[in-house]
Amino acid sequence: MNDRLWKECQEFHGHACGGLAIGFRAAETAAELLGFDLERAEDEELVCVAESDMCGLDCIQWMLACTVGKGNLILRPRGKTAFSFFDRRTGKGVRLVLRPFDRDRPKEEVIAEILAKPYGELFEIKEPGFEVPEKARLFDNVVCCKCGESVREDMVRLQKGRPYCLDCFPRYDRGWM
Ligand SMILES: [Zn+2]
Ligand SMILES: [Zn+2]
Repeated sequence: MNDRLWKECQEFHGHACGGLAIGFRAAETAAELLGFDLERAEDEELVCVAESDMCGLDCIQWMLACTVGKGNLILRPRGKTAFSFFDRRTGKGVRLVLRPFDRDRPKEEVIAEILAKPYGELFEIKEPGFEVPEKARLFDNVVCCKCGESVREDMVRLQKGRPYCLDCFPRYDRGWM
């Protein structure tokens, strides 16, 4: 294990916790399985799709340079501790799903166990069930007819043919959405 990187991740995140340790192991495991060097971590060819927003994403950002700003860290909220990694250069992808384990113990114990476990015992290694997300697309903008703010055209709703942003659109909810 790379102690320097683990220390840097804690500094970046602000504390050590079980979630951070999970993210650390996910980044390490991705590097091993997809065959890239953690110190490389520069380009945007590596994409991470995370299925929950959790502490560990700070390791993904720090170690793999996948960031929300660059568009190569994508949230796909499913409430699962699962990460898919795609390498655009090779077309390879892998999905890591955290196996259930007992977290009802002192924090230090949990962290130590996560850092020490072989990755195959920590994560189920699967194929991603979805394609690598496309690169950022450019959209036209339209102006919301209520608040007057500019909004990406695929993000508006129409009522009587007039565009509304999602915050202004009159809610129509019959309990199924
Ligand atoms: Zn944390
Ligand atoms: Zn609006």
